[in-house]
Amino acid sequence: MSTSRVAIVTGAARGIGAATAARLARDGHQVAVLDLDEGACAGTVEAVRAAGGTALAVGVDVSRADQVEAAVTRVAEQLGAPTVLVNNAGIIRDNLIFRMTEDDWDAVLGVHLRGAFLMTRATQSFMTQEKWGRIVNLSSSSALGNRGQANYSAAKAGMQGFTKTLAIELGRFGVTANAVAPGFIQTDMTRSTAERIGVPFEDFIAHSAEQIPVQRVGQPEDIAATVSFLCSEEAGFVSGQVIYVAGGPLD
Ligand code: NAP
Repeated sequence: MSTSRVAIVTGAARGIGAATAARLARDGHQVAVLDLDEGACAGTVEAVRAAGGTALAVGVDVSRADQVEAAVTRVAEQLGAPTVLVNNAGIIRDNLIFRMTEDDWDAVLGVHLRGAFLMTRATQSFMTQEKWGRIVNLSSSSALGNRGQANYSAAKAGMQGFTKTLAIELGRFGVTANAVAPGFIQTDMTRSTAERIGVPFEDFIAHSAEQIPVQRVGQPEDIAATVSFLCSEEAGFVSGQVIYVAGGPLD
């Protein structure tokens, strides 16, 4: 039987984060739905409540230390000690290196890497006190390199090193840390990539699916299922791993 925990999912207003919040709620956890705009979390919160779960919407910019501290304090006060953390919030600012601005670089590194660092630093004491915790960081197949994504691929490769160090430092407290690295997942993020390169989203999906061994693109629920496993009691001996969820092998 699974134990009910308090889980935080960042960037949970839509896409992979929303599916992950819904899945963790179905697993029996109370879920804090964090995103830039608190109002935008309403859909995710309603879906969780309609399914009989408990969810709390919290507006936060994960790249801002003061906001992160306030958000985590609010979660702890209203739901209880957060011992599951999914660092999912993300943005893209794609450009070839000669056109990439410092803002493109700082914004992407700021949300993914600095955001994951700040959220983890703010929640780890709850996990170490409980002698139990689960941290899942969203990396990407782009960590292996992707044209036009020098900033994003650096951030996503950085998430992998960050994850492994967390696993080493926090393991003695019963806390595991793992990274999930999705391939192509059908969300607003991939829709905006299709728009940027001027290809209809349906064509972009069909073309991408042809390159993927299982012959389809991923759905947010594919990632949510993997995160669910990594957050489970049974996954306590899996730590410091990067799991590519991409419909085929990547390395
Ligand atoms: P998405 O649909 O664009 O959703 C990302 C969410 O993060 C949005 O709700 C966004 O809010 C929020 N967010 C952005 N900046 C934030 C900040 N500073 N603080 C708090 N929340 C913030 O993206 P997705 O496709 O679900 O991706 C989720 C994660 O998976 C990301 O880390 C992404 O890099 C990773 N990933 C996605 C894919 C894919 O194919 N989709 C593949 C590999 C990895 P706003 O709407 O207000 O901007």
